[in-house]
Amino acid sequence: MSRKVLYSTVAVSVLAAGSALYLLSSYPQDTSGTVDTSAAVEAATWADNVSITLDAAESTFTFQSNGIPDHGFAEQYLIPIDPTDQPFSDKPAEFFDVVNSAEYFTESEINTTITTTPVYAKEPTDTSLGRIGVALSGAQIFNDYEDMERTVVAIDDQVIHDHVPFLDECNGHTLVDGTDYHYHGIPVCLTVRLDVEGEHSYMLGVLEDGFPVYSNLDVNGVEISSDALDECSGHVGPTPEFPDGTYHYHLTADEAPYMIDCYHGEIEQAEMMRGSGGARPDFAAIAQELGVSEQMLMDALGDTMPPDFDGAAKELGISLDALMAVMPAPPQ
Ligand SMILES: [Zn+2]
Ligand SMILES: [Zn+2]
Repeated sequence: MSRKVLYSTVAVSVLAAGSALYLLSSYPQDTSGTVDTSAAVEAATWADNVSITLDAAESTFTFQSNGIPDHGFAEQYLIPIDPTDQPFSDKPAEFFDVVNSAEYFTESEINTTITTTPVYAKEPTDTSLGRIGVALSGAQIFNDYEDMERTVVAIDDQVIHDHVPFLDECNGHTLVDGTDYHYHGIPVCLTVRLDVEGEHSYMLGVLEDGFPVYSNLDVNGVEISSDALDECSGHVGPTPEFPDGTYHYHLTADEAPYMIDCYHGEIEQAEMMRGSGGARPDFAAIAQELGVSEQMLMDALGDTMPPDFDGAAKELGISLDALMAVMPAPPQ
């Protein structure tokens, strides 16, 4: 499926917005009920490179994958030579390296444990750069943005030179070092095999707060638009896996936010910073938060102790404040 097909549906979704609103308001917006996603997680058709381990006692599941999606991807990608000089869409071809995915794509160890009893929180929590959820394809779900300041929306910043894209036809790409393939829009290469015409879309993944994620097809296959959803692109209603209704997220195709820019479920923010008893900080998680690879972060920090944070921030093209905001506090 091509991006062209995706966008040709915009007119239909505008027409359908009225009826979608009707469906929405006819359903109680009850977020107080509890939901157990373990059966849906277990029944989902995860890719062969994904291993799912359910822990009934802890009410969690662990997702492990090599990070490479099981659907096809583009043969070549545009990789910005200076990833901090955003946006990219107005940049000429010289601004990019053209890489062959066969050599460039690199396996990444994805390992995350997510609750199977998500709890709706009244106060939303902003999603960060880096992984915010996992998809059945083995790849990761990111939010809309390419920068910490949330000014550059990846889908709207699409650039194609000589048929080579920045984002592929699945709305995905890797980090600049070829690791951590992730989506910035509906993973259409995945949903094309999941969704059924005339039906609510099927669960395509799970957000880190535990709530399930769907494409933009709501009840009866009606396309849902961003403004028919809450501030985190979610709502309460029935889905194929949860016929009695649950809070769930929809990725959308009409306008930003296309992705999930805040969690409406309880989420352990401290989780990614949690070192094991003052041991080595979780540099992989910090790198993800900054949108760079762990290697880039380690190179920037160097091997002096304490690190030259000022120099590291400059090398990563971010402000010192932004870097210190994600570095763990020194041990007391
Ligand atoms: Zn990206
Ligand atoms: Zn829905």
